Amino acid sequence: MLSDRAKKIKPSPTLAIDAKAKSMKASGIDVISFGVGEPDFDTPENIKEAASKAMKDGFTKYTAVGGIDALKNSIIEKLRQDNGLSYKRENIIASSGAKHSLYNIAQVLYGPGDEVIIPSPYWVSYPDQVILNDAVPVFVKTYETDLFRLRPEALEGRLTKRTKALILNSPSNPTGMIYDKKTLEKIADLALRHNFYIVSDEIYEKLVYDGSEHISIASLSEEVKNKTIVVNGLSKSHAMTGWRIGYAAGPAEIIKAMTNIQSQSTSNPNSITQKAAIEALTGPQNFTGIMCEEFDKRRRYLVKELNTIDGISCTMPVGAFYAFPNTSRIYGRIIKGKTISSSSDLALYLLEEAKVAVVPGSAFGDDNYIRLSYATSFDDIKRGVERIKEALNRLEIAG
Ligand code: PMP
Repeated sequence: MLSDRAKKIKPSPTLAIDAKAKSMKASGIDVISFGVGEPDFDTPENIKEAASKAMKDGFTKYTAVGGIDALKNSIIEKLRQDNGLSYKRENIIASSGAKHSLYNIAQVLYGPGDEVIIPSPYWVSYPDQVILNDAVPVFVKTYETDLFRLRPEALEGRLTKRTKALILNSPSNPTGMIYDKKTLEKIADLALRHNFYIVSDEIYEKLVYDGSEHISIASLSEEVKNKTIVVNGLSKSHAMTGWRIGYAAGPAEIIKAMTNIQSQSTSNPNSITQKAAIEALTGPQNFTGIMCEEFDKRRRYLVKELNTIDGISCTMPVGAFYAFPNTSRIYGRIIKGKTISSSSDLALYLLEEAKVAVVPGSAFGDDNYIRLSYATSFDDIKRGVERIKEALNRLEIAG
């Protein structure tokens, strides 16, 4: 009964653990969750007020499909100021979240047999969005010893005539790592020589630590900009996950096609949210800095504590809000006759025995890791790592 397309899409591997954590919580168990991918901060008041005003003013009708001009203008200004990128309105589309923009890109760029390079570990939606369009995800492994940056020579080795695009995500979910300018230049050079697009997901750009700098690959040159679609949004930078607003900037022809797709699916992003987004982009920006400072404290505490646990080693992330510890030394350890042999075994064990929810690395294409979000309260982080430590100490080392 279902289409071939629907059959190709697997349920998110994180879902089973998530559903279990939720049902445990619902039955009154105190589960501490490191699973969430959203800031625990509330949306700033000035943004909410802009939304209230939009409602009161009756700004509650359909708008232009790709967003109102005033929103596009604020996005253009943001990209100019923050990223040194110059665009016109024809280069901009606002969508119902960055995920929606990525989905539109997939629909207009990836076709049957096209190959799309995805560095792994990757964010969970990239492969499925490729598969949904009958294109082929080509995973190129990245290594902790390289700070999870794609090696340009490894990329070059995987390029074929069918390579259509590369999806880059810096700062990265799940690794928390950031690309440096040199690597970006080498990747951009390959894109120009081999004529593939770069989809640059920059949703975590504002969450960077230790003086690290986010560089948009599109800013390297006009030629690179013409081969890049920049994706960004307000979910993370302004704690607006539920509002559903994101955007993309790129060549006019691609943006136009994305707008057509959007016109046949969701139409415009929520009108009230658009007004709120203008305020978020043009109003005071101190909120993001305050949130980032708090995340920074949690990051340092969490990573320091994780590194005191036998069997875990965690490189300090410099962006986003995730710690991505290597847990492979735990695999093979035994509890009550059962062996923990994968990241999902470990996540399930931590949920059942420590009442702590983490995401197994297998969800992101690397079984040697688990992901912990530190976009959760300091108190929960403290209690959570204590519980993890205690539960892991109970494991027997085989042999
Ligand atoms: N890209 C990455 C890497 C993300 O982590 C997320 C959110 N988890 C998104 C895109 C989607 O964000 P949005 O809420 O704007 O759809």
